[in-house]
Amino acid sequence: MKIIVDEDKCTGCGICKEACPKGAKIWDVKKKAMATNLEFCHLCTICAGKCPEGAIQVIRDEPNEKKDSE
Ligand code: SF4
Ligand code: SF4
Repeated sequence: MKIIVDEDKCTGCGICKEACPKGAKIWDVKKKAMATNLEFCHLCTICAGKCPEGAIQVIRDEPNEKKDSE
């Protein structure tokens, strides 16, 4: 899986880090947010739901799905 933050949209507000149950471990928010330690992520997608800019995409691995158009 991966978490993509749209750098053009992200304002660095830190809401993703506050909202994430493992925010202190996963999120690194300086000027822009970055999800750095995804081994702690349990794909709840709270971060994406809380981001006021809609900048976060949580992308699950879909092993049964072909990924020919990303
Ligand atoms: S909540 Fe959204 S806009 Fe705010 S720091 Fe996180 S990704 Fe950036
Ligand atoms: S999906 Fe959930 S656990 Fe993963 S970074 Fe977002 S809020 Fe945190």
